[in-house]
Amino acid sequence: LLETIGLRKNYGSNEILKGVDFSIEAGQVKAVLGPSGSGKSTILRLMSLLEPADAGSILLHGKEIGVESGRDGRSIPLPERKLARERTNIGMVFQKFNLFAHLDVLHNVTLGLTEVHGVAKGEAVHRAERMLERVGMSQRMRHYPSELSGGQQQRVAIARALVLDPAVMLFDEPTSALDPELVNEVLSVMEDLAQQGMTMIVVTHETRFARRVADEVALFDSGVIVEQAPPEQFFTAPEHERTREFLSHIH
Ligand code: ATP
Ligand code: MG
Repeated sequence: LLETIGLRKNYGSNEILKGVDFSIEAGQVKAVLGPSGSGKSTILRLMSLLEPADAGSILLHGKEIGVESGRDGRSIPLPERKLARERTNIGMVFQKFNLFAHLDVLHNVTLGLTEVHGVAKGEAVHRAERMLERVGMSQRMRHYPSELSGGQQQRVAIARALVLDPAVMLFDEPTSALDPELVNEVLSVMEDLAQQGMTMIVVTHETRFARRVADEVALFDSGVIVEQAPPEQFFTAPEHERTREFLSHIH
């Protein structure tokens, strides 16, 4: 469903992604683990078209995204308007929620529908209400982000991405900024989503969640995928020494 081929990204002279081939099938959940600075957030930002790659391509349903054919037939980055539309196919949830502070919950969720998808206000509100119900936030629709707990803000952020009906959801450490007692309410919304068949890539330190929910777990290190395996194998019988070493630090 979503695939990267030879994806590369440099910041200055630092090679952050060194030609990553990564793919996820429809309905799959992949957990991505890896040390700080290994490029996990970077690959999610590239896959969600928030930043351009330096080389390689990203395919959704087998079709390259984020680019179009220039006059000479070569690929050029999409202009911002088209990019914004393509972006909505890929839902992104950040560690720090990133809600619009000056908008209430309902407005945060309707904004993409009205501004990017051109959905009429009434219909947008209707869809947003349904989605907020799904994440257990229908009692807080007129609250502002600052009036919500971190777990509640994160559930709104999930609803905001979901309402655009993305093909795949990307989560970048969605529970790392939360107080421990709020982690489970977010994980349980994510687990429900997974059970309903959503395709998901989840960068996380929550190994219990990865074990329980993911179909496959990948270890990222220094801009490459070191190992990828079903959770049982990944956690109990990894093939690579680097994976064993990583796991020994987190267990
Ligand atoms: P963490 O677990 O700490 O979130 P990560 O695996 O998500 O780490 P990335 O955020 O992808 O790592 O960063 C990979 C490397 O790229 C880091 O060394 C980081 O300093 C660098 N980097 C990320 N974004 C930028 C940027 N906009 N400009 C320059 N360097 C960057
Ligand atoms: Mg990160």
